[in-house]
Amino acid sequence: MITTLKTRLGRSVVLTTALFSISAGSTLAHGPDPLQDGKLWAQDQAVTYQWRSLQAPPKWMADAIDRAAADAGISRASRAATFARVASGSSSLIAYGEPTGCTSAGIACFNRVGAPVSFKMWFRAHGYVFDWGTLRWCEGLSTIADGCFDAETAALDEFGHVEVLAHHANYSTGSDYLDAVVQTVSRARPKTGWLVHAFARCDTARLQLEYDRRTFRDTFSSCLAIPTTTTIGASPSSIYVGSSVRFTATLKTTASTANRALANDPISGRTVKLQRRTVGSSTWTSVGTMAPNGTVEGSYVLTLSPTATYEWSATFVPASGDGAVMSMSPAVKVTVTGCSGFGCPSNAVQLPGAP
Ligand SMILES: [Zn+2]
Repeated sequence: MITTLKTRLGRSVVLTTALFSISAGSTLAHGPDPLQDGKLWAQDQAVTYQWRSLQAPPKWMADAIDRAAADAGISRASRAATFARVASGSSSLIAYGEPTGCTSAGIACFNRVGAPVSFKMWFRAHGYVFDWGTLRWCEGLSTIADGCFDAETAALDEFGHVEVLAHHANYSTGSDYLDAVVQTVSRARPKTGWLVHAFARCDTARLQLEYDRRTFRDTFSSCLAIPTTTTIGASPSSIYVGSSVRFTATLKTTASTANRALANDPISGRTVKLQRRTVGSSTWTSVGTMAPNGTVEGSYVLTLSPTATYEWSATFVPASGDGAVMSMSPAVKVTVTGCSGFGCPSNAVQLPGAP
């Protein structure tokens, strides 16, 4: 079987056997896409491109490339760069047909050494003859046929590289091929994965790691397992029976450098449960779900009137598909006592026998 391999820094070759990793550094299979060489764009940088002089694509190809640029913006799930074509004035150039910056066997390639100022991208022309056969872009066929490559999918792979993504490291079985569109081996129609118009979870995982989430409410890519920290405070920590305590929890990602751009970020819009236990017990009882603390990011509150002394903790329980790891706060003790005699607050329960 002949497949096409697109390598980093604009070089491409055709493989005739199994795929292998060519990326610098190794990454566990199924993890976020590895990092491509070069600098990041700024967060949310609006990057423009234009057709290279004398190498503008035919309309069907131009439309496919522009759609891929839009696909990247819609599906980035992060503050990665966005791409949009302009008629002129951009130093980022996309070319169709010869000459290209690709190796003799590449169907498409890119160069991002100009980041964060500019990039380059090239696509071989429909009908280009390789040693393995003739290149057919699906969008260029009047009647679609097996064996063609979807140009929008291929262009999305290239925009992923331009962002900073290197090829995903798949399981040897390839069972996780759909976890990334930025793939070493492009698949022709009708093989699974030949038609993908959005970044997949292990693409967005890397984009989140490098560019951060768009808001503190955003979920984490399910290709990630971001460790979190939950803390809890009680105010006041000692009350009379009948008074209330305001519990405040904070939830954020850990400061680990492995969390990269996601480190030390507040996490809003999640389920944080309040639990209590008898002092000295190891059994926690769930009391309720804490509510968002107004507009304070990553803060959750619940006000209660406990009638006995307990230890309390807050636990973050990630929803299915949220690539964060649960965390439980240390315990905080709230002492509850009765009140008798002069000086008791008016709302306190009076002890038996008290005036
Ligand atoms: Zn690629």
